Amino acid sequence: MSQEDLKPNDRGGFNRMRPRPEGNNGDPRKGPKFNLYWIWGILAVILLGFNLFSSFAPDTKRITFAEFNEQMLAKGDVEKIILISNKNLVRVYIRKDSLKKDYYQSKLPKGYNPDTDKGPQFEFTIAKPEIFTDDLRDFYQKNPAVKEVPRIDDTEGDWLAPIFQFVLPIFVIVLIWVLLMRKMGGGAGGGAGPGGIFNIGKSKAQLFDKGTKVNITFNDVAGLDEAKVEVMEIVDFLKNPKKYTNLGGKIPKGALLIGPPGTGKTLLAKAVAGEAQVPFFSLSGSDFVEMFVGVGASRVRDLFKQAREKAPCIIFIDEIDAIGRARGKNAIMSNDERESTLNQLLVEMDGFSGESGIIVLAATNRPDVLDTALLRPGRFDRQISIDKPDVKGREAIFKVHLKPIKVSEAVDIHKLAEQTPGFAGADIANVCNEAALIAARKGKEAVDMSDFQDAVDRVIGGLEKKNKIISPEEKKIIAYHEAGHAICGWYLEHAYPLLKVTIVPRGTAALGYAQYTPKEQYLYNTDQLMDQICMTLGGRAAEDLFFGKISTGAQNDLQQITRMAYAMVSVYGMNEKVGNVSFYDPQQENSFTKPYSEETSRMIDEEVRKLIDSAYERTKELLLEKKQQVEVLAEKLLDKEVLFQNDVELLIGKRPYEEKKTLDVEETPAIA
Ligand code: ADP
Ligand code: ZN
Repeated sequence: MSQEDLKPNDRGGFNRMRPRPEGNNGDPRKGPKFNLYWIWGILAVILLGFNLFSSFAPDTKRITFAEFNEQMLAKGDVEKIILISNKNLVRVYIRKDSLKKDYYQSKLPKGYNPDTDKGPQFEFTIAKPEIFTDDLRDFYQKNPAVKEVPRIDDTEGDWLAPIFQFVLPIFVIVLIWVLLMRKMGGGAGGGAGPGGIFNIGKSKAQLFDKGTKVNITFNDVAGLDEAKVEVMEIVDFLKNPKKYTNLGGKIPKGALLIGPPGTGKTLLAKAVAGEAQVPFFSLSGSDFVEMFVGVGASRVRDLFKQAREKAPCIIFIDEIDAIGRARGKNAIMSNDERESTLNQLLVEMDGFSGESGIIVLAATNRPDVLDTALLRPGRFDRQISIDKPDVKGREAIFKVHLKPIKVSEAVDIHKLAEQTPGFAGADIANVCNEAALIAARKGKEAVDMSDFQDAVDRVIGGLEKKNKIISPEEKKIIAYHEAGHAICGWYLEHAYPLLKVTIVPRGTAALGYAQYTPKEQYLYNTDQLMDQICMTLGGRAAEDLFFGKISTGAQNDLQQITRMAYAMVSVYGMNEKVGNVSFYDPQQENSFTKPYSEETSRMIDEEVRKLIDSAYERTKELLLEKKQQVEVLAEKLLDKEVLFQNDVELLIGKRPYEEKKTLDVEETPAIA
C-alpha cells in the first residue's frame, strides 16, 4: 500500500463510482488463444479420421498377369482396371455378380465381404505401362469373343489420394492460419493491408514525420513546469548533439515518465519531438506482448531498426510496465514471451550509442513493479514524475483547452479549477469538450458556467441517468447517507472541507456522492487518518442512526476504510500493540508466505477491527450530537438534490475549523 493508497479519496460517495481502471493487467486477447486450441483440436480429429478411414479399406490380393488375363479378363468378369503408372501397378475391380462364382469365393482377399466392400479386389505388377497396354490390345485382338470390355482408368490414381489425405488438410490449416493472422494484425487497424501475414513481426509503431504531424509544442502542455525543464535538455540535445559530445558528456538514452493516466505523459513526449523537430515513434507496451512466442521480441527489433534509419528521433513506449515487470521472481506467474520481449528491449537499448540520436521515452504509472534492469545507467536512468495537477495547473490546462471554445464572459476559469480537485489533464479536456456539447444541444451562443457544472458532473459520474427509477424510500436513505458524510466532514477537524453533496443518480454505480477539496498533503498523522475514516463511515452510521437498518450502499466506503485501517496497523506502524513494524508488500510477492507469524497476523486483524469499531462508535456519537443538522441537510438534499459549500453554510452555519483558505494549503510546498 503506498502513500497514494492511503490518501483518502476526495469523493466519499454513496456507493462511489467504480475506480478508473489503472494499469494494464487485463489482456483483451485472451479470446483467440482459446479459439486456437479448439481449431487445433478439431484439425487433429479430422486428420485422425482421414487416416482411420483409409486404413479401413480391406487389403487387395496379389495375383499374376496370367491369372488376370486368363481367369478374369477372358471370362468377362472385370468391371474396371486402374493403371497406376508411377508404381507399375494395376488394380482390378471385379463385377459384383461375377464375385459369386466359385472361383472368386476361394480367391478373394481375407475378410472381404462381397456385399458391402468395394474394390479393387486384386492387383498385380507389370514391367512397364506401355507394355501392359500393348498386351491388352493383343488380348482383345486375340479374343474378339470377349464382349465385356473393362473400363480402363489409365490414371495415376495413387497421387490423387495423397492430395486428399495430406495436401488438402495442409491447405486448410494454412488457410485458417492466414485468416487468424489477418484477424490479429487487423485488430490494431494495420494488418489487413498488403501482406498482413508477413508483417506479423513488424512493429506497429506509428511514425509522425518531421514537421508535418508532430506540431505539438510545449505551449500545448500546460503546467508540468518541472517536467518540462527536465525534458528541455533532451530537446536541446536532439537539436545540437555536438554541443554535448564535444565536451565529452554522456547523453541520456532514455527517460521514464511516471504518473497516473491522463496526466499528459504522451502529450509531453510528443511535445519533445515537436520542439526538436524529429520523428516520433510510439508504441504501447501491451502491443508488444502478443500471443505468438517471439513476436514481441521481433517487434522491438523492428521498431529500433526503423528508428535507427530515421535518427535522430524519439521512441515513446506507453505502458512500459506491460513488458517491464520484474522478471522471474514468481515462478507461477512467469511469462516467457514477456521476458524475451524485455530482454530484447534491454539489448536494443544497450546496442545504440548515445551519439546515434535515439531517445527512448517510456511512460508508466507503476514504477514500483518495473524490473530494476530497466532503471540501470544507460537505460531509463532518468525518472521524471508527473503528478495530477494542482489548482494552478488545472487552471492552466483549462486555459489550453478553452482556447478553441466559445465561452461566455461569466465563465470563471479559476472557479472551474477549484471545482475539479483530483482531475487529470485528460479529465479536464473531457470537461471542456462535454461543456461545449451540452451548450450546443441547448442551442446556446456561448458555453456558460452551468454547462461546465453539468460537464463536471458528467465526467465524474458518467452520463446523468434521469430516468433511473429510485423509490422515494431509497432516495431518503441516500440523502441521509450523504448528509452523514457531509456532517462528519464539516465537524471533524482533520476531515476535508465539503465542496458539494448530491443525490442525483449518475452513471451505473453512483447513487450520490459528497465531494471534498483534498489538501495536497504527503504526511498524515494518526488524528488525520482517524478523522478520514470517521468521515468515510459517516454514511453508514447515519443510516444506522436514522433508520435502524443499514444498506448495501456503503460497500465502497467500507472497502476504503478497511484498506486504510490495515495500512495504519501493518504498514505505517501506527498501532501500539503491533508496534513500529511495516509489512509493505507492493507486488504481493509474499501472498503465500507472509513475512510474519500467524500470531501477528491474528493480532493485526484484531487491532484493525478494534480501530474500525472505535471509529464507528465515535462517528455515531458525533452524528447523534449533530442529529438536527443531519436532518436539516438531508431534507434539503431531498428537495434540491445538489448542495454546495455555501448552501451548507447557510443551513448549519460556518465550519468551526475554517483555518486558512484551502487553496493556500495547496500552494504551500509539501513538508518533506
Ligand atoms: P497519459 O499519456 O499520461 O495517459 P495523455 O498525454 O494521453 O495522458 O493525455 C491525454 C489528453 O489529456 C491529452 O491529449 C491532452 O488533451 C490532455 N492533457 C493531459 N495533460 C495535459 C496538460 N498538462 N496540458 C494540456 N492538456 C493535457
Ligand atoms: Zn458513502
